[in-house]
Amino acid sequence: MRAVVIGGGIVGLTSGLALRRAGIDVVICERAPEIRAAGAGLGLWANALAVFDELGVGDAVRAIGKPGEMYFHDAAGRLLDTPEFGPEDHEFLLVHRAKLNDLLADAVGRHTIRLATGFAAYEEHPDRVTVRLTDGSVENADVLVGADGAYSAVRGQLVPGTPAEEHPGHHAWRAVLPDPGITLTEDRLILGTHGCRGGYVRTQDGGVYWLVNQFRSPPLTGTRKQQALERAAFLEEGEHGRVLSALIAATPEERILHNQIMLVPPLPHWVSARVALAGDAAHAMSPHITAGATLGIEDAALLGRLLTPAGDVPAALAAYEADRIPRYARVAELSAAVEHAPTPREFARHYAAFSHWMLTSRTAAPGEEKPTADPQPRRGSPAR
Ligand SMILES: Cc1cc2nc3c(=O)[nH]c(=O)nc-3n(C[C@H](O)[C@H](O)[C@H](O)COP(=O)(O)OP(=O)(O)OC[C@H]3O[C@@H](n4cnc5c(N)ncnc54)[C@H](O)[C@@H]3O)c2cc1C
Repeated sequence: MRAVVIGGGIVGLTSGLALRRAGIDVVICERAPEIRAAGAGLGLWANALAVFDELGVGDAVRAIGKPGEMYFHDAAGRLLDTPEFGPEDHEFLLVHRAKLNDLLADAVGRHTIRLATGFAAYEEHPDRVTVRLTDGSVENADVLVGADGAYSAVRGQLVPGTPAEEHPGHHAWRAVLPDPGITLTEDRLILGTHGCRGGYVRTQDGGVYWLVNQFRSPPLTGTRKQQALERAAFLEEGEHGRVLSALIAATPEERILHNQIMLVPPLPHWVSARVALAGDAAHAMSPHITAGATLGIEDAALLGRLLTPAGDVPAALAAYEADRIPRYARVAELSAAVEHAPTPREFARHYAAFSHWMLTSRTAAPGEEKPTADPQPRRGSPAR
């Protein structure tokens, strides 16, 4: 069995690794001239770490990460506690995106990756799929996985008329500062006013990852740094202890990333007989739930479990879709509940309800015990 994976991002590389470990011959086609990662830090949840354990790279991923806790404070510095959820519902691992992609590229095998090779089109036949690439070459395979991100060209052919859409007024600014210049004794995630949230998390190598996001932003003016500082003012009340603002001020303009948040609309199907979408190509979602990559890593693991060297590809892809579409419908519901929470306290509760659900409803790996016997939170949940 042979698979072509389009996209050498987190999900394409994890898909390649999962398929190779399943005994499938894999080629990954990445449009960029190198494996790189747009972005700065990335929070990975236990679901992603369980997949990496299953694929034999869990310890290596933990070694490049720093454990963190997703507890929120308000702009006045008060903890927005969620006593109905346990500490395990808040735990994540912060990794640097570029380091994670490098690690995954090494694990899957650099020789399986064709760089500077974009996807052009595919033709599906009863017994194979022919993939045409931008350098004029052709790959024949049993299955094609489109892990080519929010603007997926594979999705453009598989589910026409579903371009990525702007989430109106939703913007994010972020950076990794290798040497923050101040001693940070804690991480801080803040839910402020004016639809703003953000904070800073220390990285494994002594730096800091800061981020600022805003829903329903007015039109942007000024430099990226000015834009981020304007929003940080809604996250830190008073003139003292403005650590986030100090970190932003200390960040060179060129290190600051800005994103207009893009969403993929709910898709009527994710697969055909021999083509499947995974990761942001299928479900680019709002990053306010900090889970797009973790959920995409789950997609990759499931493909690796369902596709087997001598197996029935259309049946495996149908089973994949039957698992994924309802899961994402629930993600969308819970994510909307967080986004539309009327107060920071409600936001924090809905957020914990989402992470609790995500962590306790995942599919266990073969031979692994189910994550928890009790998929319900401790005392009620705004998600129910
Ligand atoms: C501000 C922000 C913060 C976020 N924070 C988190 C977080 O903390 N935790 C989390 O879980 N998620 C987070 N996310 C979501 C996460 O970034 C995405 O879900 C994840 O990167 C998706 O990975 P992917 O591999 O599917 O897509 P991508 O990372 O977009 O990778 C797609 C790859 O495909 C390649 N490609 C594209 N088109 C073609 C083509 N035609 N041919 C060949 N190759 C192609 C691209 O070059 C790229 O390498 C965040 C998102 C944003 C915007």
